[in-house]
Amino acid sequence: MDKKYSIALVVILFGAAGGLYYWRSADLNDYGTRRNYNASLHCTSCNKDFLAELDVADTPPVECPNCGKMTGWYRWECAKCNEQFTPPASGNPPRQPVAPSCPKCGSSATGRMGGEL
Ligand SMILES: [Zn+2]
Ligand SMILES: [Zn+2]
Repeated sequence: MDKKYSIALVVILFGAAGGLYYWRSADLNDYGTRRNYNASLHCTSCNKDFLAELDVADTPPVECPNCGKMTGWYRWECAKCNEQFTPPASGNPPRQPVAPSCPKCGSSATGRMGGEL
């Protein structure tokens, strides 16, 4: 390989690595400020829906703002029939299924609902 050419290549590689590092740290900073997200929840004690700002480390059940009980669970929406539902939690400690199927049409094209506070 020509010597001039290989020096140019090294400069390009270092430049690319520096750019990548900058991009990655900017990305990490972004994660740092965006740890909160809005979730649409349903309280199984008082049957009310509510929105809450959750930290990514938080997992339901969360405290219901209406009755104060720790029975706020994620709401899901079916992409096929638009049914909105709250999958029942099971186990100990109780957890909702990760990928519940729609109780109305049986589709597995379901997703957790977000919302605007
Ligand atoms: Zn409640
Ligand atoms: Zn459905």
